[in-house]
Amino acid sequence: MAKDRTISEVFLVNGSTGDPLLYVDYPGRNNALLFDAGELGTLDAGRLGDLAAVFITHHHVDHFIGLDRIVRANLDQEKTLHLYGPEGTIRRVYDRITSYEHPFFPFQKVVFRVHELLEGRLRWADLDCARRFPEPEVAERALRGRVPVVHANDDLAVEAALVDHTVPCLAFALVEKPGAHPDAARLAEGPLRPGPWVARVLDLLRDGARPETPVEIDGGRFALGALAARYFTTSKGSRLAYITDTAWSESARPALLKLAHRAHRLYCDSYYAATELRQAQTYRHMTATQAAELATAARVEELVLIHFAPRYRGRYEQLLEEARSVFPRTSADLGTSEMRGPFSSSGRR
Ligand SMILES: [Zn+2]
Ligand SMILES: [Zn+2]
Repeated sequence: MAKDRTISEVFLVNGSTGDPLLYVDYPGRNNALLFDAGELGTLDAGRLGDLAAVFITHHHVDHFIGLDRIVRANLDQEKTLHLYGPEGTIRRVYDRITSYEHPFFPFQKVVFRVHELLEGRLRWADLDCARRFPEPEVAERALRGRVPVVHANDDLAVEAALVDHTVPCLAFALVEKPGAHPDAARLAEGPLRPGPWVARVLDLLRDGARPETPVEIDGGRFALGALAARYFTTSKGSRLAYITDTAWSESARPALLKLAHRAHRLYCDSYYAATELRQAQTYRHMTATQAAELATAARVEELVLIHFAPRYRGRYEQLLEEARSVFPRTSADLGTSEMRGPFSSSGRR
């Protein structure tokens, strides 16, 4: 999956056929987001070290095995890295981190703030490296609504909801705030390279600074208006939904429709073909047809299928065609599906 139109850099780390993982970044800012934490060996330490927040749908191995690499890539940093997941996430993350021996160098000051979403409330605890990861002290607050905002910064908000899988599981939507945002494709073209100036320019644009305002970049002087025209776009506030490992059931439907409502793009579980509807109900996944039905009902602009079952290897197009017959604006990233074989989801269900 190539560059996104408005949110600056968005890609499926393992395409549509490996463990589902969505990486979202704004060039020049250390605030990347990651949806799910399965096999992520192709993300380098730089990309993992840029993470500000990780949103884990659930604790099945294909969504959680990459946690150790995320922890490792951030241990030497002085920052708070937010991790979100369903009930049990605080204990599981704590157990994983403390299953290693750490040298505890004085420069290791990272705090992992782990949040878990339950029905109507959010719990969180800080796992503090400088304090040598003592037992977590858990705080809790009430949340309103079926699809609460769990994370927000100057650029975006992330909504989460409980869905219907075989274990506690969440789905998410990322909502970009209206206004100026960096354009990754144009930043990649240059000639200026992304850097701290991107955040400075964004702040100026959002503060309504005049177009002639001078901005110093690498010893050169540029007018704010010219930078805005060349490297930034204006968003009306687009929405990306990330939905996986849930049944398309009566209990999940209201939250799924809300998360996906008029999304610019919906990434959606299509583990099975419609002919395997009973399997989908047993293992609480969606079929390609159900993903397309959700896309239609939620009036999304574009549907991207993710998390194909390994049994479809060599004939993934079948799932794509099935969804397209219901919702034509459907795509999938089949790019290197054969290479991804060993890392695709476990089991032969
Ligand atoms: Zn899964
Ligand atoms: Zn699962």
